[in-house]
Amino acid sequence: MARIAVVTGGTRGIGEAISVALKNLGMTVAANYAGNDEKARDFTDRTGIRAFKWDVSDFDACIAGIQQVESELGPVDVLVNNAGITRDGTMKRMTRQAWDEVIDVNLGGCFNMAKAVFDGMQARKFGRIVNIGSINGQAGQYGQVNYAAAKSGIHGFTKALAQEGARSGVTVNAIAPGYIDTEMVAAVPEDVLAKIVAKIPVGRLGKAEEIARGVAFLVGDDAGFVTGSTLSINGGQHMY
Ligand code: NDP
Repeated sequence: MARIAVVTGGTRGIGEAISVALKNLGMTVAANYAGNDEKARDFTDRTGIRAFKWDVSDFDACIAGIQQVESELGPVDVLVNNAGITRDGTMKRMTRQAWDEVIDVNLGGCFNMAKAVFDGMQARKFGRIVNIGSINGQAGQYGQVNYAAAKSGIHGFTKALAQEGARSGVTVNAIAPGYIDTEMVAAVPEDVLAKIVAKIPVGRLGKAEEIARGVAFLVGDDAGFVTGSTLSINGGQHMY
């Protein structure tokens, strides 16, 4: 039986590359997204992967979303918590709303989605959860107290949940990408981006497919001894 995988934010950017990589492993993939229907339709047309719309920051929507996926595709074996947003600003300018939105989507989304699948994975004695953190959660980043806090929280969440899942075959790991060439990074001003690239030892931005390869390793049936770990994929920018 093909493994069933859910990838949040799985219709574009890094998430799209992850969805395609898992499909190429023979998994049946459900790609979740928030609201960009046009991008989701285009993604499904190009890849043949079904897209499911719900907001990962909404607890009830996550429970209902997983119920829909499980009734249409089968029990979820693999969860990749990839959905993420930024609302950057220095402390002086950052609003409470910008703080809440980033914490709710990036970190709250991981809890909501894990809550929806974890019991089932434990009962079936198999599960793979991969949470997409960030180099900025490891090292901090000017103008990103909300995002750095959320991503840093993901790394702690990963290690705690890994301890709960270990005895029942459920592994929980994180990937901390460096700067990857996606729409999120395209939003960074050109002069700032040039300074960032100058600090990456390999001398370039990463590719979404390079993150997807890490996920493909962590979700494999033969990766059962890898849990609670963080895989940094960042071109050597931050050696943790
Ligand atoms: P993109 O902005 O390109 O794509 C984000 C995806 O997340 C979209 O599919 C979007 O859906 C979805 N999404 C956003 N909010 C929600 C929500 N509330 N509920 C469900 N889905 C949502 O992001 P990237 O591919 O650049 O980033 C992917 C992950 O990698 C993020 O967690 C990001 O923080 C992390 N990361 C990225 C880095 C980079 O350099 N790009 C570096 C380090 C970490 P829709 O299309 O409907 O908007």
